[in-house]
Amino acid sequence: MSLTLAQADPDVAAALDHETLRQHEGLEMIASENFVSEAVLEAAGSIFTNKYAEGYPGRRYYGGCEFSDVVENLARDRAKQLFGAEHANVQPHSGSQANASAYAAVIQAGDTILGLDLSHGGHLTHGHKLSFSGKLYRPTFYGVRRDTELIDYDQMEEIAEREKPKAIIGGGSAYPRLWDFARMRQIADKVGATYIFDMAHIAGLVAGGVHPSPVPHAHITTTTTHKTLRGPRSGLILCEQTLATAVDKAVFPGQQGGPLMHIVAAKAVALGEALRPEFKTYAAQIVANAKVLAATLQMAGFRIVSGGTDNHLMLVDVFEKGILGSEAELALGKAGITVNKNTIPFDVNPPMKASGIRIGTPAMTTRGMKEPEMVVIGAWIAKALEQRNDDAALERIRKEVAELANRFPLYAWRRAPRT
Ligand SMILES: *Cc1c(COP(=O)(O)O)cnc(C)c1O
Repeated sequence: MSLTLAQADPDVAAALDHETLRQHEGLEMIASENFVSEAVLEAAGSIFTNKYAEGYPGRRYYGGCEFSDVVENLARDRAKQLFGAEHANVQPHSGSQANASAYAAVIQAGDTILGLDLSHGGHLTHGHKLSFSGKLYRPTFYGVRRDTELIDYDQMEEIAEREKPKAIIGGGSAYPRLWDFARMRQIADKVGATYIFDMAHIAGLVAGGVHPSPVPHAHITTTTTHKTLRGPRSGLILCEQTLATAVDKAVFPGQQGGPLMHIVAAKAVALGEALRPEFKTYAAQIVANAKVLAATLQMAGFRIVSGGTDNHLMLVDVFEKGILGSEAELALGKAGITVNKNTIPFDVNPPMKASGIRIGTPAMTTRGMKEPEMVVIGAWIAKALEQRNDDAALERIRKEVAELANRFPLYAWRRAPRT
């Protein structure tokens, strides 16, 4: 019992050390990633992992849940306060499971759902055929307009009237613009659908008050907690009081057994952080950084999908310059800049190649980077893409990248791998 990880399992310990170094030295520009605080990390790595707490605070199926109740109540109350919601369920293990539970709370197998097409920025769980959502339900999709690359609400309304979905799902993983929550609710009301908004990517911006909130409009709002919200890897559901029982039953016993109490504790800590004034400053800086990075790339001659960004992410159409998204991801990786290839609306390339890359600013903003660093990073991205076939040039950028990253330290501990 008393061995350290390095003594007990040197292989896993070594991988952990290398991952620590990788996270310190690279530029993490994946739009869905972030760095949690040491307090969140401590709660996530805590002995609550040992505890079974099936049920809800005050109504558990196991003894010894008094302290589990404390942390779950803290997480629920903070989530409600942060987002102005009537009810919160903090037990979903992930964003996907939050969505599965939200759907199960209001619709039946075989019902029609209407979500944003994956290739237009949607998420797998919004009806993709390989996801439970596309197998259990009958998926239909709306998309963006070809000319503006903005959500086509007229098309959404037309499809809703024709297909009569039981649930209309908003939100996505690669949509850089604001949503018209009120219009979506109108469409849902018109066809008698439940309006579910999945704010996984933008939850931190909503929490920080720098992005409009779907919560007053949607019947149910789902989210991950680990993207802009900067909590542990997990999920969360918010809803109107009238749906509270259905949602709670759908999560447990509908989709899950025991909650991950260490992660619920970490969610409580992260939600507490998001309630503090500093988080507003953080959220505003994420958006400011994204705008500067997008403008820098545009000035370097790259086409940004929809012409810019209103949130924390941008899609760069690299294929317009004859570069595949997959090639761009690889070259930037060699330069120490982590991004992901991403399809763009009406993409002519398959998803594994893709015409775009998705870039986000939440993680680097957590490390304290501001507008001047975004200008530098934008220039490196442009240079690395131009010199994508020159490994020596990419290696030179990587050294500069590591130097910048080291000026914005992440965690104070374990800077180098134990060998
Ligand atoms: C990331 C994401 C999810 C899924 O989250 P997981 O925790 O990976 O299951 C769901 N919906 C949207 C819109 C997302 O961006």
